[in-house]
Amino acid sequence: MLYVSTRNAEEKVTASQAVLKGLAENGGLFVPEQIPALDVPVEKLISMSYQETAYEVMKLFLTDYTEDELKTCIRNAYDGKFDTDEIAPLVKAQDVSYLELFHGATIAFKDMALSILPHLLITAARKNHVTNDIVILTATSGDTGKAALAGFAGVQGTKIIVFYPKDGVSPIQQKQMVTQKGENTFVVGINGNFDQAQTGVKQMFSDAALAKELKEAGYQFSSANSINIGRLVPQIVYYVYAYAKMVKSGEIKDGERLNVVVPTGNFGNILAAFYAKNMGLPIGKLICASNENKVLYDFFTTGTYDKNREFILTSSPSMDILISSNLERLIYRIAGDSAAKNRELMNALKERGTYKITEEMRDQLVDFYGNYASEEETAEVIRKLYEDTGYIIDTHTAVAAAVYKKYQKETGDKAKTIIASTASPYKFTRSVMTALNAKYEGNPDFELIDELEVLSKVKVPQAIEEIRTAEVLHKTICEVEDMERVVKEFLGV
Ligand SMILES: *Cc1c(COP(=O)(O)O)cnc(C)c1O
Repeated sequence: MLYVSTRNAEEKVTASQAVLKGLAENGGLFVPEQIPALDVPVEKLISMSYQETAYEVMKLFLTDYTEDELKTCIRNAYDGKFDTDEIAPLVKAQDVSYLELFHGATIAFKDMALSILPHLLITAARKNHVTNDIVILTATSGDTGKAALAGFAGVQGTKIIVFYPKDGVSPIQQKQMVTQKGENTFVVGINGNFDQAQTGVKQMFSDAALAKELKEAGYQFSSANSINIGRLVPQIVYYVYAYAKMVKSGEIKDGERLNVVVPTGNFGNILAAFYAKNMGLPIGKLICASNENKVLYDFFTTGTYDKNREFILTSSPSMDILISSNLERLIYRIAGDSAAKNRELMNALKERGTYKITEEMRDQLVDFYGNYASEEETAEVIRKLYEDTGYIIDTHTAVAAAVYKKYQKETGDKAKTIIASTASPYKFTRSVMTALNAKYEGNPDFELIDELEVLSKVKVPQAIEEIRTAEVLHKTICEVEDMERVVKEFLGV
């Protein structure tokens, strides 16, 4: 199977080359030429481990990796770094099942893909006879940064540079990043928001002069953001796994429609669910949940994407995004796999900050439902769920839970549903605790963490214990315009 650029039908590469490059030329994203059909029946999947399921899914997409290579990558990724053998457990609370994707090293769902990406990338480099060091350039709204740092720290032949919005991440997210150890790691706060960080990184990727300079110094860029197809493919796995587990536990029958609710920012996670559906997995509605930065809700309800609006800092910072990169892969698809049409719309987005899709394209979005939750609604859901069940969810997952309530009310759809639970509540302790009770407002972070342990009866994760006393190692702050200079300084070019 080959991968083609969403902006140029002529640009085609193998899976390993797509993983290596991260981004196609001219800002395009690589997409599989066709979505392969899942070729294992659910009755077989139900007895498979997470790792076995991962192999069955990933081998269909990463066709130039050998069986041995893929299985080695999978084994090295989904191991004791996760605090449960199940890797992605389902927890039922009231009428929905929460798919907990936060049991990896950095307690957010980014670990699901970023614990395997370094292995896929190093394997790809070897297969393609790359001798340069690979520089992972990453923009983060908080969770990708730490998960990528954890994945790449100390990996021979790589360096990783992470840009995060200085005032746009939670205190715990920031502490996790700036305490990262490893000679090959570099963490920079920018005076700007996530979109600016992402745009700056994408610009460096498309800068031919910079690429040449790097090449001469023995470096080449790749990406750990979900614009890299090596992030998306591992994310398809947990939808397949969850479906099989729902059948196994008797929650649904084999073949029954299962709705999926995804708290969405860059559109990577929900796109993986869309790909899973296109592989033949019986997913019903794809429910796209936004916070107050509701650019996707507006897109799904009007057909117009418009990023010209105020950027709002919310209690779900990993979803504070106005330019949802992976939506481009869906646009390309509903434009009939037309690179020309997609390029036209993406140029409009770049130049005017907005584009409108045709009625014909809109008709193909019937499987999607978009809505959003306000800050109050998000907090209310956390409190109510805790009071009714004792289960505590994080702010991002709460946005999804609030949107699911709206969906149910609007449609009366009774289909069984899973909510992608994207972060541990410990990662957003302050927002979670003040949602439970305003009296926690003034308490220090680590006091709240201990209190959360008492309320949730879930042990404080290792990822949090680690940062209690860790030393701050990264203090660089820069302006948006200086991102390239900072990269060059770090690399000594
Ligand atoms: C990244 C992230 C999201 C958004 O996921 P996308 O794939 O970017 O849509 C939601 N919740 C959490 C906790 C995240 O870290």
